[in-house]
Amino acid sequence: MTMRPRLIPAAFMICAVTSALLLPALAPATRASAETADSIKPADVAEVAPGVFVRHGTHALIDRSNAGGIANIGFVIGKDAVAVIDSGGSFLDGARLRAAIRQRSPLPIRYVINTHVHPDHIFGNAAFLQDNPVFIGHYNLPRALQARGRHYLDANRLLLSADAFEGTDIVYPSQVVEKEATLKLGGRRLILEARPTAHTDSDLTVLDESTGTLWTGDLLFQKHLPVIDGRLKGWLDVMDKLAALRVARAVPGHGPVSLPWPEALEPQRLYLTRLAGDLRGMIAEGKTMRQATSLAGQSERDKWLLFDDFNTRNATAGFAELEWE
Ligand SMILES: [Zn+2]
Repeated sequence: MTMRPRLIPAAFMICAVTSALLLPALAPATRASAETADSIKPADVAEVAPGVFVRHGTHALIDRSNAGGIANIGFVIGKDAVAVIDSGGSFLDGARLRAAIRQRSPLPIRYVINTHVHPDHIFGNAAFLQDNPVFIGHYNLPRALQARGRHYLDANRLLLSADAFEGTDIVYPSQVVEKEATLKLGGRRLILEARPTAHTDSDLTVLDESTGTLWTGDLLFQKHLPVIDGRLKGWLDVMDKLAALRVARAVPGHGPVSLPWPEALEPQRLYLTRLAGDLRGMIAEGKTMRQATSLAGQSERDKWLLFDDFNTRNATAGFAELEWE
């Protein structure tokens, strides 16, 4: 718990995880331990469209008080089956989501969709093994899990309470999406699309056709500063593609549970565009990476939560990418 972020290998630097290593253990251990397998407290979920439920992720870094529940996760209920879209940040987080499903539907949980490799989105997977679902992800997800999974487990073992972490494991997809896939839930279809490298190299979007609800995963952040673990330019390109979709609403990976489309993209577009513009200017002026990363994007500072946790990392990633343009 004394590690400083700069000592952490790049593979640990993920959405909203690492700086919590600096934080003391805030939470009483009693919170999680009060929940036994038979008495899991169901997650609070909002029905953002008929049959579409979202658990709001708290705007924080993973720590002992939140069981990893920092990302927006949820599920879609059809006439025949249920699909989970991101399983949460720990076994306990996933178990709570599962309990929320069981409060609303006895139907089989047929699919668990992972929108990308980050642990706050996939570390609840093991809580659904008992349902024997098809686990689905981007075609790059198995490779990303192989490269990072062990590190993520080690890091989150330290960040989470023992009760939340217990049972947490890497669950590989049993089906990958090369380009596009359609899942039938009975009376409604989900369209899954594998995206080029943007937030990460394993970003998958999920569209619930019947309600026009687009689950963006971490291709969209609001309030919580976007985090670049892929390609800055690629992300802006993917946002242009997403902006052209005619959907009613989006469920971002971090931010409010439902946002109007496409205007929800604007704050993030502004931040990423400013960051890229600042970096290009500084690279042209011959500034060093250290100089550039301490200045780039700073004009956006007051608009975002967790800015100081992630902006320097974003600027560093952007500098490395843009200096070779
Ligand atoms: Zn992420």
